[in-house]
Amino acid sequence: MIVMKFGGTSVGTVEALQQVARIVAQSRHLQPVVVVSAMSGVTDTLRAIAADASQGNRADVQCRIEDLRARHTSTVSALLSTQEREGMVETVTYLIDELENVCHGITLLQELSPRTIDLVSSFGERLSAPLVSAVLREQGVPSTPYDARLSIKTDDRYTEAEVDFAETNSRLVEGLRPAVDAGTIPVITGFIGSTQHDVTTTLGRGASDYTAAIVGSALKADEIWIWTDVDGAMTADPRIVSEARVLAKISYQEAAEMSYFGAKVLHPKTMLPAVKDRIPIRIKNTFNPSTTGTLISEETVSSPLGVKTVTNIDHVCLVTIEGSGLIGMPDTPARVFKTTAQHQVNLIMFTQASSEHDICLVILDKESDTVVKALLSEFRHELERGSLEAITVQPDIAVVAVVGEGMKGTPGIAARTFGALGAHRINIIAIAQGSSELNISFVVDRKELKETVRLVHSAFELDKSVTSDK
Ligand code: ASP
Ligand code: MG
Repeated sequence: MIVMKFGGTSVGTVEALQQVARIVAQSRHLQPVVVVSAMSGVTDTLRAIAADASQGNRADVQCRIEDLRARHTSTVSALLSTQEREGMVETVTYLIDELENVCHGITLLQELSPRTIDLVSSFGERLSAPLVSAVLREQGVPSTPYDARLSIKTDDRYTEAEVDFAETNSRLVEGLRPAVDAGTIPVITGFIGSTQHDVTTTLGRGASDYTAAIVGSALKADEIWIWTDVDGAMTADPRIVSEARVLAKISYQEAAEMSYFGAKVLHPKTMLPAVKDRIPIRIKNTFNPSTTGTLISEETVSSPLGVKTVTNIDHVCLVTIEGSGLIGMPDTPARVFKTTAQHQVNLIMFTQASSEHDICLVILDKESDTVVKALLSEFRHELERGSLEAITVQPDIAVVAVVGEGMKGTPGIAARTFGALGAHRINIIAIAQGSSELNISFVVDRKELKETVRLVHSAFELDKSVTSDK
């Protein structure tokens, strides 16, 4: 049995949906269980609608809801013939009417809690799963939609809910096994779950990949296939490096290092259930299905020079807390991290040199105001006394990381990386390497990001190295 997850672009247009139906039909012998995202852009739109509703913008909300209705209805009309069409139009009408009611409530209350954001966000997948299932039936493939809220049970940390695996696994087996055994292909809503009191939750943005891994682990799938719109994990972002190549095989650990670094291939949590049950994950391109893609498993093929891929994160800034008073103040790091944690800030990278003179945090641009305000308040006494000199933000930076299992214990990786940059007078602003040695991350000026990625890619000969199968 195989779990196949199709992302937003794969279910985003009539042509893409036809392609999905072809792919699933051709894989019937593998007993696929399908997980889908919302049609591309729909989750963003739903969130914008919710925000608009809380501002009381009724006309705008109504207009956007009608756009969603039209997009789904026209897709239904283009893909389904009479009988399936009637049923699916009814489903779209029912769901969009429900969405309308929820939004009306938000408009009246002018209040938007994370719990309500999750309810509104859930409509995208609740629309796409029955749609994909109907498209499969239309092609003669027996299929039934499945609402993951019936099985994926979570806590109530809305927008980033944590899964209760014991409960979820047994419910998934109970809910899906009969259909699979009967040769029917379930099409499951990605991204969503529910609390023990059946309140709708979501597992985090982009988390349909995670849903696929949760389902795969519960059903003991042979493989989890993530169908997306790129050929696989690559040696670098192909928009930056034209010679970037697809990596045929990477390890779970390498994949984890890459997804944390914004490689955008997989939701970071996807690896956890897969690793636990040693289920290989395959990344495949819906729009180029004949290419093999990337296989993520326990095995890896190391590249001759140790580094396998160069990843980068943009739209970040560097917050520096500095002052000679930091030296020998053991509680400072704890206070810094407590402050960022309280504001649920995602720390992308942080460093402190052994002089203890400053602590640098790399965070998303959009979180910088919040973080600086919070740190200024936390350390106001130290700033008044002068034991802290300043808390500053450096915008317009980017993080670049070199990743590879082969880096572990291999001397010279940092030398080759920084040597290549030094030779081209690229300045390194901050550096971090964990003791797992799988990843060296560093900060450069955003203006030099592209050149940095290209230089490092070529320094490790990633355009020609044999990181593919032997
Ligand atoms: N539709 C959700 C999102 O846009 C989940 C996903 O696409 O994986 O975040
Ligand atoms: Mg995604």
